Amino acid sequence: MSLVVQKFGGSSVADAERITAAARRAIRARQAGNQVIVVVSARGDTTDELIELAREITEQPPAREMDMLLSTGEQISIALMAMAIQSLGQPAISFTGAQIGIVTDSFHTKARIKNISTQRIRHALDEGKVVIVAGFQGVDENYNITTLGRGGSDTTAVALAAVMKHEHASGVRSQESGVRSQESNTSELTPDSCALPPGQEVGCELYTDVDGVYTTDPRLVPEARKIDFISYDEVLELASVGANVLHSRSIEFAKKFDVPLQKRSSFSDAEGTWIVPEADWMRDIVVCGAALLKDEARVMIDGVPDQPGISHRIFSAIAEQNIVVDMIAQNVGSGGKAAIGFTVLRNELPATLAVLRPLAIEMGARVQHDEDVSKVSVVGTGMRTHSGVAEKMFAALASENINMKMITTGDIKISVLVDKADGVRALRVVHQAFNLHLPRPGAGLAAAPAAQQLFKRRATPLVEESAPKDPLARLASMEDIVVSDVLLEMGHGRITIAELADKPGNCSRIFQAIAAGGIVVDVIVQNLPQVGRAELSFSVPRGDLDRAMALTQDVVRTIDPHARVSADANIAKVFVLGVGMRTHTGVARRMFGELAARGINIGMINTSEVCVSVVVDRARGEEALECLKKAFSV
Ligand code: ADP
Ligand code: ASP
Ligand code: MG
Repeated sequence: MSLVVQKFGGSSVADAERITAAARRAIRARQAGNQVIVVVSARGDTTDELIELAREITEQPPAREMDMLLSTGEQISIALMAMAIQSLGQPAISFTGAQIGIVTDSFHTKARIKNISTQRIRHALDEGKVVIVAGFQGVDENYNITTLGRGGSDTTAVALAAVMKHEHASGVRSQESGVRSQESNTSELTPDSCALPPGQEVGCELYTDVDGVYTTDPRLVPEARKIDFISYDEVLELASVGANVLHSRSIEFAKKFDVPLQKRSSFSDAEGTWIVPEADWMRDIVVCGAALLKDEARVMIDGVPDQPGISHRIFSAIAEQNIVVDMIAQNVGSGGKAAIGFTVLRNELPATLAVLRPLAIEMGARVQHDEDVSKVSVVGTGMRTHSGVAEKMFAALASENINMKMITTGDIKISVLVDKADGVRALRVVHQAFNLHLPRPGAGLAAAPAAQQLFKRRATPLVEESAPKDPLARLASMEDIVVSDVLLEMGHGRITIAELADKPGNCSRIFQAIAAGGIVVDVIVQNLPQVGRAELSFSVPRGDLDRAMALTQDVVRTIDPHARVSADANIAKVFVLGVGMRTHTGVARRMFGELAARGINIGMINTSEVCVSVVVDRARGEEALECLKKAFSV
């Protein structure tokens, strides 16, 4: 029998009427012949209210007690949902995270799932009950209640779907295979379809107050357009750069364990957004969405010794506190000193500074910070193969006189840090510049090819690419890092512009000149090591380095004759690829640590959810590759 996990967010269980509507939906899925697990969030704004309640008692509530408090929101919802389903005549039973054995690590308020035992769920499902599970919570090995971070119910839902699916696939439920409903074998994706594409046994539906994933937050940009199909990587990247429409770790699970996922409205039967493996047609969509992360903080450490191991020391000290470093812009360094700029979530600034200040004193460096910054990002699979995206984004921001405080690029994203006051305006102008409001394939225009792609991929074995050979074994450490590959790239050179006047439009003019020369820019990093002076580095194909240098010198001469331009042909780039690379603070830490241990200096750093890359000296490229392959066992 097929199994559907339905997750209802806070707005979908806000009052009795909505709870009853959600209960009816679950019963419909059950009556259609599926086994049904319902995951619920706390009602409406309950979690915010609980946080406020704690603040009324103390400014810094202990994390363990915070989890004890926050988990109550979901506990109320499961009980009410069970009552609603039962009163409509369908047997149902509710469980807290602890009761069904969602075991996490002990990082209170941002715990990661280690494993889930399915026995109790299985038993209840086999009795014909709808199983209702509290989202967002688990229990550590010492029976302390933990929570998974804001928005974490999505992750509970997808993790449950993953574990049930792979239990099924590996034969634990073999007596049932083949019993799946005829419908799910043959149906097309119609507007009314449920979460199971043809051939799938387990699916997950995330019900919310919007009818899917939009090109950006429709609350901020009303002309945002609904996306019909989006790849795991794109939505993972969008979620991690600020689109809080989905908890980014839920996508990690969906991708790692190949869970068919649909984000849809609890207020209608309209088809939502399908989150699917990457399809060929997506490579032509250069930008599929944009996002704003409103509350970031920028930290600058300058005057650090430009030596191997320094990045490692700094970032591992931060990672030890489980603080996720977002953008990292490390400068090329001169006179034996380098400056490192990075961002963290605004609410993690105090903890970050507490770690950093003693370290800076030790290293003779200075720490500065900026609390009122926001990050605007664009994401798209097509960025891998199409040029000019950065240039277009920078030109759009320049046209609105918005200054860029930091720039970092990833495999399929570009992020720019701006003043908080400019944030929403920046998002709107970027959304407009890429015409994201207009229909396109996969978002408003015939998605037929997408549906075919989806079916084709779904017909292949359950776990592919970076996913493990033995999925059940992997479920023993569900949220562990998955590094799929380490690659070396020697084909690029780097241009650096130091002490460039920090004015809106400067970067844009430089990239316009480079693009006009037909040169494809690869990685871009911009940082503000000193007040009023930016440092910009970017890499271009080595064959184009001289031309890029000449073009850059020409344009820099006209915009700021004091800036210094240099070129470096002796660079190599090492990539570590996988899933959840940024949110797992351990990846960059291990990577920097391995390089430091061998005395390899890191020149530029780029992080995204699917890739962390560093620039090193060309002569050390092969060695860096080998040591990282060994470290990540690939
Ligand atoms: P739930 O409680 O159901 O999990 P959330 O409030 O967490 O719901 O997420 C839904 C909200 O996410 C929407 O109301 C919308 O304002 C916001 N959002 C942000 N970015 C996007 C986006 N790209 N597409 C759709 N919604 C978005
Ligand atoms: N109730 C939690 C929150 O508000 C978890 C969730 O809604 O996903 O963050
Ligand atoms: Mg949510």
